[in-house]
Amino acid sequence: MGIPCTLIPGDGIGPDITDATLRILDAAGAQFDWDRQLAGMAAVNAVKDPMPDATLDSIRRTRLALKGPLETPVGDGYRSVNVALRKTFDLYANVRPARDIIPGGRFDNVDIVLIRENTEGLYAGLEHYVKVGEDDKAAAQSIALITRIGSERVIRYAFEYALAHGRKKITLVHKANILKYSQGLFRQVGQQIAKEYDGRVAYDERIVDACAMQLVIKPESFDMIVTTNLFGDILSDLVSGLVGGLGLAPGANIGQHAAIFEAVHGTAPDIAGQGVANPSALLFAACLMLEHVGDAGRAARIRTAAESVIREGKTVTRDLGGTANTRQFADAVIARIGA
Ligand code: NAD
Repeated sequence: MGIPCTLIPGDGIGPDITDATLRILDAAGAQFDWDRQLAGMAAVNAVKDPMPDATLDSIRRTRLALKGPLETPVGDGYRSVNVALRKTFDLYANVRPARDIIPGGRFDNVDIVLIRENTEGLYAGLEHYVKVGEDDKAAAQSIALITRIGSERVIRYAFEYALAHGRKKITLVHKANILKYSQGLFRQVGQQIAKEYDGRVAYDERIVDACAMQLVIKPESFDMIVTTNLFGDILSDLVSGLVGGLGLAPGANIGQHAAIFEAVHGTAPDIAGQGVANPSALLFAACLMLEHVGDAGRAARIRTAAESVIREGKTVTRDLGGTANTRQFADAVIARIGA
């Protein structure tokens, strides 16, 4: 019996990169019982609902999902399913590892795991207009909500992740010099929790603007970062940029009752249906999922195989300067796993 896991192939290139990822997981002997479900445009086309109850019920049952990219219509149409999933399952920690795989890039020795608070801060959805005189929208206000409980759970998750993954240092990123209350609370909670892990995980702090500069000048000096929602949104793309963009970047959304693993990139409509997409980001997301369920050894084997194919550069997809298609890349990784 495998581990029950909801599988959402997604839209655009989603089905192609999902097939490739499943073939590689199978070849490595990963034991999952996949429950295939729909979301996004595929679900709209099939059952006229971008987030069907059957999909939500499946995730409630398995508490684990591997998800391909989902199309979000711009302007009119349904709201982002990704955001809705985050809200429905209260997925409070967004985990974004960034590691340079291909040598000779702009930066070497980058290996950063950024953990972003995913539910509150400026994205809490507390917004309104203020009417002044005749103007209904004379001003607009967005409230940055930081709670002690919300801060505690994400910061504690970061420390536990550090212990589980042999990480040495957590940098808490904040702007408490200006936002003394909200950012101050997040920082205060960080300092309290850091004391509990004293001697096991080192702790330091950076103000977000200085951190942005240091990430570009000296990225190798960072190990793990934990930060609030807006700063995490921006800095997680920055760290992906340090290692060559979003194409290879996996992400995990973790909650108390469910965890959803995905590629950071979107549906790539420009190459959808051509069988040429790079499945690495979803594959690396599956590796994060293997670690999450306690199968770190298998995750490491798959990652090592895929990274060596990417580094070698002979059988890589177009986005990495090669000519291989999705299937050929997956075959090369499978051959390397078996080797
Ligand atoms: P995108 O990431 O889909 O594409 C940006 C560029 O990167 C394109 O040129 C694309 O061909 C390339 N690319 C992306 N992934 C690739 C891969 N695996 N292999 C090779 N090339 C790849 O971003 P976009 O065009 O801004 O968004 C397209 C759609 O995806 C939108 O509907 C958007 O809402 C959605 N989206 C979904 C997610 C998600 O589900 N997590 C994330 C981002 C965007």
